[in-house]
Amino acid sequence: MKNIHVAKDPVSANLLKELLADAGIQAAIQNERVFALYGGVRAFNPAVCVPDEHYEAGRKIAAEFERSQTSPSAPETWTCPKCGEKIEGRYEECWKCDAEGQESEQRGGIAETLPLRRKLLWAAVLVLLAVLFFIILCRPR
Ligand SMILES: [Zn+2]
Repeated sequence: MKNIHVAKDPVSANLLKELLADAGIQAAIQNERVFALYGGVRAFNPAVCVPDEHYEAGRKIAAEFERSQTSPSAPETWTCPKCGEKIEGRYEECWKCDAEGQESEQRGGIAETLPLRRKLLWAAVLVLLAVLFFIILCRPR
């Protein structure tokens, strides 16, 4: 057995286990009980393991699962560069024309513009604070 994923809790460990079962891989969860005792300590978080011969396939499914876990609240919709169809962010390819490759670049683009927008927002807040500070300091007493 090889460990392919350390889950944040038993619920997500079981989710991944079911995904693996769908793909015909018999997975096992280790530390599921220990988690109940020492919940929150990452060393004891439930680990999803698969038989050695399924390691590669299991890792792929786990990686896909990890990606869906890290951005569950922000499934950015993207527009297919080929046919212009609006696609939900959790889908890698266009369901209409099966375009792929360019989408991942576009998704990367979306991911990169978000922090930039946040930076600009922070810059605006800082400028506003500086102006306020200036007004307070230079106020005639
Ligand atoms: Zn398309």
